[in-house]
Amino acid sequence: MSLLAAPLERVIAELGKLPSVGRKTAQRLAFHLLQAPADEVRDLAQALLDLKDRIKVCEECFNYAEEERCPVCQDARRDRSVICVVEEAVNLVSFERTGSYRGLYHVLGGALSPLRDIGPGDIRAQELLDRAGREELTEVILATNPNVEGEATAVYLARMLQPTGVKVSRLAQGLPAGGDLEFTDDLTLQRAFEGRREY
Ligand SMILES: [Zn+2]
Repeated sequence: MSLLAAPLERVIAELGKLPSVGRKTAQRLAFHLLQAPADEVRDLAQALLDLKDRIKVCEECFNYAEEERCPVCQDARRDRSVICVVEEAVNLVSFERTGSYRGLYHVLGGALSPLRDIGPGDIRAQELLDRAGREELTEVILATNPNVEGEATAVYLARMLQPTGVKVSRLAQGLPAGGDLEFTDDLTLQRAFEGRREY
């Protein structure tokens, strides 16, 4: 039998399911919450519920949004002739942080991986092709991760986009090979952007 009260044990178990949260951290967080003011805990619980109830996927770029279109797609000052293709919405946050990109995005929702049985139908490749045919594009920047799966995805998408005639470019080398864009620092990311090369 556990030494801890069942509700406390349950919170520890739930927190422990989060990425990079081990048993010890989960325990520390649960005790912290137990001692925090009730309002604060209620606000946290509500924020978590809102995350699932109120967040949708942008109709245009598949970024997370509270309305039909995300804040980037709604922004009239963005350059609508350029699309930066990323694997996950979290990557978009990294590019926005650099502040140097003013175009739109396309969130694939993953990368091709024969090992994990993820094919073109499992990522938003067709949706990208549809956008390329619909919008007045001058460039598509492939900003998938600099690892095996990200490279394979970039090659696939470049071939897929070839018949559309739109310029397709890939982020410059210099990004840590095998890495993840989510953990790349802003300056490296900005340089990779500026030094992108055409396919
Ligand atoms: Zn959007």
